[in-house]
Amino acid sequence: MGNIADLLASAAVDRPGSVALVDTTAGTGFSWSQLNSVVNGQARELAARGVGPGDRVVLRLPTSADFAIALFAVTRLGAIAVPISPLAPRPELDTVLEHSGARLVLSRDPEEGELPEGDNEEPLESVGGGEDIAVLSYTSGTTGPPRGVMLSHRALLANLEQVKQVPHTLGQQDRVFIAIPLFHVYGLGPGLLHATAVGATVVLAERFDVTKALEVCAAQRVTVIGGVPAMYHEFSEQPAEALRKGLATVRLLNSGAAPLHPKVLAAIREKAGLAVFEGYGLTETAPVVTSTLVTGYAKPGSVGRPVPGVELRLVGSDGLAEEVPLDPDDLDDAFVEDDAGTGMVSIRGANLFSGYWPDGAHGPDADGWFRTGDVGYLDVDGDLHLVDRANDLIIVNGFNVFPKEVEEIIAQLPEVAEVAVVGVIDERSGESVKAVVVPSAGASLSEQQVVEHCAARLAGYKVPRSIEFAESLPHSATGKLRRVRLRS
Ligand code: ATP
Repeated sequence: MGNIADLLASAAVDRPGSVALVDTTAGTGFSWSQLNSVVNGQARELAARGVGPGDRVVLRLPTSADFAIALFAVTRLGAIAVPISPLAPRPELDTVLEHSGARLVLSRDPEEGELPEGDNEEPLESVGGGEDIAVLSYTSGTTGPPRGVMLSHRALLANLEQVKQVPHTLGQQDRVFIAIPLFHVYGLGPGLLHATAVGATVVLAERFDVTKALEVCAAQRVTVIGGVPAMYHEFSEQPAEALRKGLATVRLLNSGAAPLHPKVLAAIREKAGLAVFEGYGLTETAPVVTSTLVTGYAKPGSVGRPVPGVELRLVGSDGLAEEVPLDPDDLDDAFVEDDAGTGMVSIRGANLFSGYWPDGAHGPDADGWFRTGDVGYLDVDGDLHLVDRANDLIIVNGFNVFPKEVEEIIAQLPEVAEVAVVGVIDERSGESVKAVVVPSAGASLSEQQVVEHCAARLAGYKVPRSIEFAESLPHSATGKLRRVRLRS
């Protein structure tokens, strides 16, 4: 029966004077006891405005001390935090407000809401916990309309316990740099909550700017970075000396939320002598499922193995669950090396969500399993590789095309900066492959060049039937490609 706000209360008792949080954008810093007092003050203010157990409170705040304070204040009252991007357009906020039935919006924009301040050293007992919902997280909707994922205190705390068992993960001596959204569960759970649970210092930046980030990391003696592939891509393009200098005190780089390109992994290793450890997770799994940190080997193209306490199996395309032994000693002939052995990744563990808001629909099944929608396979070592999302699968004349395979081929062309492949309705074949290509700066590229390049390397049905050139592609706040927006 824990409450995530108690992580902060314990930190304030155990190490009151040590630095909890540095907000590098606002230029503020808090010790654990200061942070706890401010949270108590804000919680009392919210309670005075009628916020109580089960009420939804929208957090429309950037990655900042304000976000951390609001999260702990809301959950301390037993209310439910509903984080949303401060950059999301107003209609998106209205949709979330209406869907969640939220009582209040905490925002820096006075037209949208307010941000009550307070400071109160007097302890405030937290209300509720365990199966009560702590966070209602609206996924960024890369595959469809936004859905409210109900995360209980139990699920969030369980994932922290699971991740804590991974060797070399966060410890009390660490200073963790977070410039990813805290309104996304990746920044919130393995970032903010994990640091609070172990007493590490959180170094926050509202936005990621590569030059500033390297300055901050050096000045703040950052030891761990929680990032996304787009950030590491920018790091990898820095001169080696600048990168080494900026990351001089860093011991661990974590990446998650989207695929990390092996080229980025290799470039950072070469320039800074650091490996980037890739994790995989979903909002519904609160969030960490696997990490290459579990084996300690940052294997290119793999997201590693499940963290202790998380069970993983692959469900065959016929819909029948096929148990895949995860103990490498049991793998013998059960392992699969190519697409033929792919299945949908399914997860079981105490970290799972409680279904979607408001009625808990589509949560884990009766046996406790949740189907992620991601298609993957295990390699000879038992490490997971993600192939694509089942929803993104394109079916051409009954043949399966995974967009990622076609994207990787097109991305080989030096004239291509970025590419997305989607299925579009086709009268004859049901669906056909369409590629949206962003040419590199100054490059000239024709439709025919792309088609010929693909035709020489892919089966006929995988070759794009149509090509569109674009200036940029739509991405979510964590850098995920929003393919759904390209399907028209
Ligand atoms: P929706 O599920 O509505 O499309 P979303 O993509 O924003 O929204 P999240 O919970 O933020 O939902 O993202 C989870 C998904 O991110 C996973 O299902 C997986 O497809 C992808 N993902 C996470 N980590 C990785 C990774 N390391 N490599 C590839 N994909 C990843």
